[in-house]
Amino acid sequence: MQKFTTRFAPSPTGYLHIGGLRTALYNYLYARKNGGQFLLRIEDTDLKRNSEDATKAILKAFKWCGLDFDQQVVYQSRRFELYKKHIDLLLEKKLAYRCYMSKEELDSLRKKQEAAKQRPRYDGRYRDFTGTPPSDIAPVIRIKAPQQGEISFIDGVKGEVKFEAKDIMDDFIIARSDGSPTYNFCVVVDDALMGVSAVIRGDDHLSNTPKQIVLYEALGFKVPTFYHLAMIHGEDGKKLSKRHGATDVMEYKNMGFTPQALLNFLVRLGWSHGDDEIFSLNELKDLFDPTHISKSASAYSFKKLEWLNQHYIKSLPFKELKKQCKELGFDFDTVGQRAEFLCDLLRERSKTLLDLINGAKKLIQSPQNYDEKAVSKFINKENLGYLREFLELLNEKNSLNLASNRQNSLNSAKYFEDLISEFLAKKNLELKHIAQALRVALTGVGVSPGIYEVLEFIGIKEAKERIEKLLNTYERAI
Ligand code: GLU
Repeated sequence: MQKFTTRFAPSPTGYLHIGGLRTALYNYLYARKNGGQFLLRIEDTDLKRNSEDATKAILKAFKWCGLDFDQQVVYQSRRFELYKKHIDLLLEKKLAYRCYMSKEELDSLRKKQEAAKQRPRYDGRYRDFTGTPPSDIAPVIRIKAPQQGEISFIDGVKGEVKFEAKDIMDDFIIARSDGSPTYNFCVVVDDALMGVSAVIRGDDHLSNTPKQIVLYEALGFKVPTFYHLAMIHGEDGKKLSKRHGATDVMEYKNMGFTPQALLNFLVRLGWSHGDDEIFSLNELKDLFDPTHISKSASAYSFKKLEWLNQHYIKSLPFKELKKQCKELGFDFDTVGQRAEFLCDLLRERSKTLLDLINGAKKLIQSPQNYDEKAVSKFINKENLGYLREFLELLNEKNSLNLASNRQNSLNSAKYFEDLISEFLAKKNLELKHIAQALRVALTGVGVSPGIYEVLEFIGIKEAKERIEKLLNTYERAI
């Protein structure tokens, strides 16, 4: 028996669009769910519009997302012989024919049809031609398409879809006058020869489907099951485009989104499993069922994507976050032993990996400058005085060996918590009198992880230096 097979068939005209990634993901999941294979085909027959770089960009995006495809990538541009063979077969069986209509004849036919308010269509004049063909015209090849009746199929998403042949069909071209095969013909030959069982694609391809069915039947191939996905809309209800922000998958990477969040986000744009929102790729391989694809367009929400990203940053293993941050240019290995502790401090409050990286940089380095807003809000004479006193207290603790405490992060943060509580109690102060000023001294900004943990991460020696630096900067100025 033939293996259950799906495919993703992008035209390499630019980058991988997130709508394309959703289509790829659904095909991928449906294949995996069935223990089948997921193939990648690059539809690069339009040599003018396609570029190798675009193909590379698609493969890169696939790699980043962790969508693995089976077998070698299929390139349509390398299969012209195969298409030609099938065109010859159709000619031989008289299911296709050469049409010698000149451009002038075609133009005049179009004009007449327009004037009569008729749909422009080829009139079949060479369909049963037996005469001597004009010698100065390189013919196109047309399929003998049904001229009446219905072309219908059961779409896995939309249900029964019917087209009246007389409304949509004519003997469309399958090979141009230079012999090159046309789009729908290549798709059908490939899907059939690649053994594709189900085609999940955007519903912008719905109007191609009756033509493709005509070709499947002429070629004697089994028609796959089709699933046409409703488009993704922006929050304004319009088709998602660059206007709405990023549409290139790799831009999401650069903005600090995890592929786990992006895939989770995309799977839910048009598919559901009860009210569940969080799915790992492995869970999806079990759960994905195309009968739960939604009929209506789904709306893109950046907030939801951020929410999912935050969830994954909170819950992914350190090793995975480290790998992803490294790809964005930040190497946790340079932090040393405390790298995982640092990551844990920051992951709770990071919406993106860039937040995580920027947060990490703030804690690793002594502040190069201080955030103006934070300074005007939290740094004043009074607070600087408390901070000076606190520094003196830390100086008294000079001999304390925190190295052993650091082995146990709780102890160390706890140590600082106790120290600060004691300090505040002695001076009859509240936490607000020192916490924010201390935060600015240690991180340069007004927002950071818990101050006790920050102190633990930085360590007493470095903390003292940072406090001293802030005091030196502002004590005289304020
Ligand atoms: N190459 C087409 C596209 O990029 C997809 C064709 C198909 O899935 O049948 O939109």
